[in-house]
Amino acid sequence: MGLWKSRLEKEKILIADGGWGTELQKRGLAPGEAPEAWNLSRPEEVGAVARSYVDAGADIILTNTFGGSPPKLAKVGLEGKVMEINRRGAALSKQAAGDRALVFASIGPSGEFMAPLGTISEADMVKGFGEQARALAEGGADGILVETMMDLGEAKAALRAAKESTSLPVAVTLTFNKGPKGYATMMGIRPEQAAAELEKAGAEIVGANCGAGIDVMIELMGLIRSATSLPIWCKPNAGLPELVEGKTIYRETPEMMASKLRSLVKAGASIVGGCCGTTPAHIRAFALERKKLANPA
Ligand SMILES: [Zn+2]
Repeated sequence: MGLWKSRLEKEKILIADGGWGTELQKRGLAPGEAPEAWNLSRPEEVGAVARSYVDAGADIILTNTFGGSPPKLAKVGLEGKVMEINRRGAALSKQAAGDRALVFASIGPSGEFMAPLGTISEADMVKGFGEQARALAEGGADGILVETMMDLGEAKAALRAAKESTSLPVAVTLTFNKGPKGYATMMGIRPEQAAAELEKAGAEIVGANCGAGIDVMIELMGLIRSATSLPIWCKPNAGLPELVEGKTIYRETPEMMASKLRSLVKAGASIVGGCCGTTPAHIRAFALERKKLANPA
């Protein structure tokens, strides 16, 4: 049995980490700068973010490799560094995790549309994600999280690539928005459809991340749960971003979000972390709340 699975069986709820982009910005990452470049140029800052989430009580932390696919790195002039950036990103998180937490390495969208909408063929998409996944496994990752996907075809290409290029468990989460006709990704994929198709394609964990605060995530968990019996990974934002005096802010506090952990889990979530705007304080609050749920006073 996978390490993550035995840990989930023991704890019933696993706590994952929170936002990385927002944490790196606090440490000086400039707008428009590629966060993944810091794996090579500012490894101590990247390691500090990873450590802050382990210290907050996360069972699973991610890696600073969200934009580490070849097409995405090519856009910022880092096409020659795919292996190095991803390997280092996994190693930095692994070092911070030690034996306290597991590391699921992050794979985000390529930034390209797959043919026929775009120019990249499915085979090339799989090849690129495969290269990234292999480097993440070499860096010591315990699993892979394909996240923030909008196109089910690309999500499946990344899943297939990770499964073919590594022996790691693979989780896949998409980003859904609430529209007038219900929940769907920007490409029109519904949560129930995504969950069912990803399970069939061999994902070990499915779920949703980004694009929504915690209340919307509770509704989404119910929809996903209706379509799969797999464990569900849930990464709500700390609310939707708001621009106030030129600064992006997120309004959901650690206390507010943690108070909804019970409803989130009841609706189907098994692994709970945070996306944009969530901080180590949010993850600490989730970890404390989990303890309360396990040992009701
Ligand atoms: Zn996000």
